[in-house]
Parts: sequence; C-alpha cells; structure tokens
Amino acid sequence: MEAWRRALDDPVRAFPVEKAGPAHVATLKTFDPPLAALEGRRFEGVERRGKRLLFPTEDGELVLLVHLMTAGRLRYLRPGEKGPKTPAFRLRFQDGAELVLTEAGSKKRAGVWLLTPELAEAEVAHLGPEALGLGAERLGEILAADSRRLHSLLRDQRAIAGIGRAWANEILHHARLSPFALSTQLEPDEVERLAEAIDSELARGLELRQRGAGDKQVYRVHNRLGEPCYLCGTPLARVDYEEHTVYYCSRCQTGGRILKDRRLSRLLK
Ligand SMILES: [Zn+2]
Repeated sequence: MEAWRRALDDPVRAFPVEKAGPAHVATLKTFDPPLAALEGRRFEGVERRGKRLLFPTEDGELVLLVHLMTAGRLRYLRPGEKGPKTPAFRLRFQDGAELVLTEAGSKKRAGVWLLTPELAEAEVAHLGPEALGLGAERLGEILAADSRRLHSLLRDQRAIAGIGRAWANEILHHARLSPFALSTQLEPDEVERLAEAIDSELARGLELRQRGAGDKQVYRVHNRLGEPCYLCGTPLARVDYEEHTVYYCSRCQTGGRILKDRRLSRLLK
C-alpha cells in the first residue's frame, strides 16, 4: 500500500478531476456527497492509513477513501493509455489520465467512499499503530494486551495497522514463530525477533514494490505450498485458518509439527 501511495502521490494532484465514476454498485459505499461533487476539484495528494488510501481534495472539503481488500488493484493510466473496459471504479482527470480500480473475481469487496474530512477521520480512527517502525517495546504491549494466535493478531488492523495475510505469513516465517503461537506466551527474545521481522519484511516488500516487482518476486512463503523454504529447504506447508490460508515452514516455525486445520479439528471433537 505504501508503494502505491508513493506512486500515486504526484500524478493525482497534477490535474483536477473531470469525471468521477462510474462505480460498481457494490464498490461505492457512500452516496452523499455524490461522486460528482469531486468534479472540478483537485486532490492534494495521497495519504495512507493502514491498508486504506485517502485522497483529500485541495480545498479541504472532501476525502476519497479507497480500501482494496485482497483482490482490488489501482492503476493510473496516462492520457490515451488503454485500460480495463469495466473497472469497479473510474476517475478521469482533466488531462485525460485516469485512475481505475479493478477487482479480480466476481465478489466485489474493495470499496470506495466519498466523505467529509470529519467522517474520513472517524472511519480510520479505530486503526492500531502503523506496523512499520513499531519497535519491540510497543509490540510487546500489544501482544500482552490480548491472548491471540499470532497470525490472527498481526492481521487485525485494530491492533496493528498495515499487515495483511500475505505479510503475516512472510513476517512469522522470518521471525521463526508459529502462526498459531499465543501472543501472551512469547519470550522477550521472540518479541524482539517479531518486531525485527515486521520491519525488515515490510521494508523489503516496499522496496521491491517500488521497483515494480510482482507477487512472485515479493513473497517467499505466501502461496508457495511445497516449494523449498528459503532458509532450510523444507517444503513449505499450508493450513486453513479463519477463512485464510496460512503458509509456513514446519522446520523453521513449528518444531517439525504440521498444523491442523482448526475448523476441521473442532468439528471432529
Ligand atoms: Zn524452513
């Protein structure tokens, strides 16, 4: 998300909006003010809060908020550049450039909100502190506050903002911690390792994304079932957990144990 923010910051403020929309009915989450209220206004740039991108207008009246969820993608198309035929959301600037949001698959989960600055502030207020640069001390407090499985806690934007399921996999692997370890049972050196892993993995991802790297180049654990662990060579394993697929190395992270699908084992009890 941070790479996106940096890439879009200059282009979106170059020209005022000429036409806002159309938007897919499931993508646009607000109707008042209408999207057309953006027309003729210029953005001040792009801000990021956790996984949300905020586009405040220069006049301080409106904020366009975009949440891509897992399958949404934002593209900036230069004037004349060909884009998707029916994006979930489209914004055209006065020079002919466009900002388009597309979403793979039939489920529309990404969202676009047009809000007043006050409502936008309320919308993002519940987010936890930014993951990047969190540090071991602050992380230790968050972990101690609530006994949760690490994969679930890392993904919770209210606890820590900015880590999705893919980076939870990368970070826990880097820290050599089980995705199912309980947050309150970590030793101090494990908390240190996790804090270091959050910083180094997110910084690595940011740098690669800024160079235009795709998922295959960025993720070393996520979506790599059966491929050798980059540290020890053990084939990577996978387990389903809370509607998410968790990838891990059974040698580096779980002491050789294969994790059981939590939902299934609960049913069989
Ligand atoms: Zn390994």
